[in-house]
Amino acid sequence: MIAGPLALVAAIALATAGVDGALAIPLRHLYLVPAAWAALRWGSSAAGLVGLVAGLFQGLQVFPMIEREGLAPATFDALVALAAPLVLGIALGRLVDQAGERGARLSSLLAIQRALGGEAPLEARLEKAVALVGAALGANRAGLVLRADDGTLAVAGSTAFGAAFRKDSAAGRALETGSAILAVNLDADPRLRVKAVGGLTPSRGLVLPLETGAGRVGVLAIERTGDLGPAACRSAREMALHLALAIDNAQLVLKQRRFAQELEDKVEQATRRLREIDQAKSEFLSVVSHELRTPLTALQGFSELLLERVVPPDRARRYLGHVRTEAQRLGRIVTDLLDLSRIEAGRPLELRPERVDLGELVERNVDLFASQHPRHRIEGQVAEGLGAVSADRDAVDRMLKNLMSNAVKYSPRGGRVRVAAAVAGDRPDTMELTVEDDGIGIPAEDLPRIFDRYVRVAHPETKAASGLGLGLHVVRSLAEALGGAVEVESLPGKGSRFRLLLPAA
Ligand code: ADP
Repeated sequence: MIAGPLALVAAIALATAGVDGALAIPLRHLYLVPAAWAALRWGSSAAGLVGLVAGLFQGLQVFPMIEREGLAPATFDALVALAAPLVLGIALGRLVDQAGERGARLSSLLAIQRALGGEAPLEARLEKAVALVGAALGANRAGLVLRADDGTLAVAGSTAFGAAFRKDSAAGRALETGSAILAVNLDADPRLRVKAVGGLTPSRGLVLPLETGAGRVGVLAIERTGDLGPAACRSAREMALHLALAIDNAQLVLKQRRFAQELEDKVEQATRRLREIDQAKSEFLSVVSHELRTPLTALQGFSELLLERVVPPDRARRYLGHVRTEAQRLGRIVTDLLDLSRIEAGRPLELRPERVDLGELVERNVDLFASQHPRHRIEGQVAEGLGAVSADRDAVDRMLKNLMSNAVKYSPRGGRVRVAAAVAGDRPDTMELTVEDDGIGIPAEDLPRIFDRYVRVAHPETKAASGLGLGLHVVRSLAEALGGAVEVESLPGKGSRFRLLLPAA
């Protein structure tokens, strides 16, 4: 491959063969041309060979001359001319070698950055990048351990570390301490805990932390049979730095994408929710109209009957009973709606805490419900010597009525409704009001949402039951506003038990 410069050397040798005297020295400097040619084209080894051959040709004339004339200035000049192609050629060749190495390093760095910047999943990009690093450094094996923000580790080029990454391995230690580790004999060095693969021994191992300046993103480990001199170590360090920055960049891009995706999902969710709420509002309006119309129609019908017909007293009394029930129902709906509008607007519920005697409240409501719901057995039980709660009387009454009317409504075949007031056994300074029925019950998956507004659980037996899905939402809001809570236990087909907790007075 270096035939050109060698032929030129031969040509110069032929041309200068017969020349002697003052012209000989300048002519011998012509040997610099093939030496420089070889250096620029092929680097220091080629330049060295050409310089050596040029020196040999010159030696044929220079050494006899030294023998003839001794160490005269002319022979000294001749010796300088003899050594110049070799020395200058090698020096120039070294510069060319270094420039070549730098170029190669730069192009591998570019290739690594390109590999990390692609669109493939990060794991695949890392595998590709680590393979390129290994090839660029002439490594037998190369591996990467990456540490994500949440502390999880990812291993790329896993043949280098094996699937099981060990914290007490050299890679683990470099990751922990941030210091590089160089092992000159892998098989004999206990720090690396890997056996070199094939090839000549000893094998060198180098583990470098990947620092971005703002933190450590992982470590790079390479293994190479044969020498791993300062130049290769320098290259490896340079690559580790670029790798760290590129990985950091790639992780940032991923994080940004994830954020963008999350944001998009949230916006989509919010839009969907808004649409649902909008739809729920329209449905709600139509249900409210229907709910208000039903008692109103009954009130209108019975009052007209009483006004326009002569009705026997016992029947008139029954009609008036219906009028009262419907008026109460209407009242409850309107109060629930008013409470809801306050809750929705974030306005505090109008509550005036006072001492409320739960026993009296239970007894009154048990009597009321018993008179209105003859198909149900309404029972009340008040613990002896029960103290009072600190609450708004009207609010507690509303909550109890809500729970009791649900107990009746959701036991459509009739049955027992038990209301009890006692001290809460599991909470200090708290009283409990429980309303228990043996009605249709609530499926476990619906239990967490029945206190949300507009939620109604579909059940074939209570399809016709009226309701806005607001009662329990209002009960919970009132209970919380009074410093209490409401809990539920239920089994489908067996019944439900609601427990209202209120602070003792
Ligand atoms: P509404 O009774 O107007 O539908 P609520 O907020 O009072 O609204 O109740 C929400 C839902 O919870 C009801 O639709 C019903 O499905 C369920 N629920 C409430 N109380 C009971 C109960 N005692 N037994 C069975 N299901 C109940």
